[in-house]
Amino acid sequence: MDITRFGVVGSGQMGNGIAHVAAVAGFDVTLQDISAAQLERARKTIEGNLARQVKKERISSADADAALARLTFTEDSKALSECQLIVEAATENVDLKFRIFEGLTQVASPGAILASNTSSISITAIAAHTDRPEDVIGMHFMNPVPVMKLVEIIRGLATSDATYATVNAVAEKMGKTTVLAQKDMPGFIVNRVLMPYINEAVYALYEGIASVEDIDVAMKLGTNVPMGPLTLADFIGLDTCLAIMHVLHDGMGGDSKYRPCPLLTKYVEAGWLGRKTGRGFYNYGDK
Ligand code: NAD
Repeated sequence: MDITRFGVVGSGQMGNGIAHVAAVAGFDVTLQDISAAQLERARKTIEGNLARQVKKERISSADADAALARLTFTEDSKALSECQLIVEAATENVDLKFRIFEGLTQVASPGAILASNTSSISITAIAAHTDRPEDVIGMHFMNPVPVMKLVEIIRGLATSDATYATVNAVAEKMGKTTVLAQKDMPGFIVNRVLMPYINEAVYALYEGIASVEDIDVAMKLGTNVPMGPLTLADFIGLDTCLAIMHVLHDGMGGDSKYRPCPLLTKYVEAGWLGRKTGRGFYNYGDK
C-alpha cells in the first residue's frame, strides 16, 4: 500500500519522536493527543530537535521547515481518518490501548493499517479489539526515536504479509533498521533479552556479589556495551523495568526464570525510579 499520510496517537516522548522522524522522511503527519498541553510540548520538542539536527548538519534548514509544515497537531481523533497508517504511542495501559483501538476502528478508513508502539502488550490482544486484525501490527521504536536506529516489528497472530511488508517499507523509509519478532510473545525480542539481563544484575547486587559500580564496570568493559545494566535501568526507569518483568513472568506462565528481583520491587516501592526521580541505583542530586 502507498502510505502518504501517517497518523500518530499520543504525543509524549515516543509519539513526538515518531512524528518528527516520519515528517523528516516526507510523510504528512497527523499527531493526535487528548491533551492540548502535551501537543504544545510536543511541538516545542520537535522544533528544538529539528533545530539541533540542523546545527549538527544532519538536515538542512529548508528540510526542517518542510518537515514542520508537514505536521498537524490535533486533539480530534477524527482527523486520523485520512491516514493510511496510524501508529499508537499512548500511555502503556492495557485497557486504555483497547479503548483507543476500538475508537480507531470507528475513525480509520477501511484498509488503514493500525500499529502499536507498545513495549509489552500483546499485539494479538490489541488486534482483537479492532475490526481488522490482519491490518494490526507492532511497530516498536526505541527511545529517543530520532537517534535510535532500530524498529522492532511484531506480527500478531492474524497480521497479514501485506501489512508486514508495508510497515517494514515505511520503517526503512524513516531511515530505520528493522527486525522481525515472528511470534507475538511477551517482551518481543529486545525486552525479552534485555530485562532478564537487567533483573539478573539487580540480583547480583541483592546477593552482595558486587557493588553497583563494579557490576556496571564489569559489564561495560567486560562485554563492550556503552553503559552498564544498572545505569541503563536508571535511564529506562525502574518502574518500567519492573512492569516489563511482571509481563514476562505472567506471560511465561510464572516461570521462575523471570521472577522480578525483590530489590527491584523495593526500589520501586521507595519511589526510587531512576533518573526521572533523582534516585535509583545511583543518586542524581535532589529532585
Ligand atoms: P508518555 O507518557 O510520554 O506519553 C503518552 C501520551 O499518550 C501522553 O501525551 C498522553 O496524553 C497520551 N494519551 C493518553 N491517553 C490518550 C488517548 N486516549 N488518546 C491519545 N493520546 C493519549 O509515554 P511514552 O514514553 O511516549 O510511551 C508511549 C508508548 O510507547 C507506550 O506504549 C510505551 O510502552 C511505548 N514505548 C516507550 C518507550 C520509552 O522508552 N519511553 C520505548 C519504547 C516504547
